[in-house]
Amino acid sequence: MPKPMVNRKVNPPSNSKPIVEVGSEMSRDDCIFCKMVVGQIPITKIYEDQVVLAFLDIGPISDGHTLVIPKQHFEKLHDCPSEILGQVCSRLGKIAKAVTKAMNSEGYNVLCNNGRIAGQLVEHLHFHIIARNSGDGVFNRWPAYKYEDGKIDAIAAKIRKNL
Ligand code: AMP
Ligand code: ZN
Repeated sequence: MPKPMVNRKVNPPSNSKPIVEVGSEMSRDDCIFCKMVVGQIPITKIYEDQVVLAFLDIGPISDGHTLVIPKQHFEKLHDCPSEILGQVCSRLGKIAKAVTKAMNSEGYNVLCNNGRIAGQLVEHLHFHIIARNSGDGVFNRWPAYKYEDGKIDAIAAKIRKNL
């Protein structure tokens, strides 16, 4: 008897029922990450609970590159209510530690791109966990510079006004 084929199109079953239903206002029909949440797009799952889903990035910049997303659709960091954002962030450390240990890496970056100009291609809030090792060449360019006299205070005041 031939072995039954494993259907890679179906995400592995989860014990935790998604809080997001297909077609609900928490989900967007045109969003690839929302489709992952409801199992319509295959992922390599790392972790799932009621609030978050974590899976391997298919275009890694280092082995184990993981994405952590809220199951509910929010475009940017500041669109996400603080209660949910707190829950998402509370999972980051545990997942980052696991990625780092598993990849035997020396450190990691947690990155959240917001807006197309900042490199956000998928408009569903997500955090990248990127394992790092010396000499890996990731983020080689960090274009730091110094403020001209007085500018740092002016900028700080401007930001405070917008809080
Ligand atoms: P960003 O550029 O911050 O929006 O990151 C989006 C990330 O999603 C990229 O690093 C992509 O490689 C990743 N990505 C896109 N499609 C998939 C997919 N089907 N499975 C896993 N990761 C994906
Ligand atoms: Zn979405």
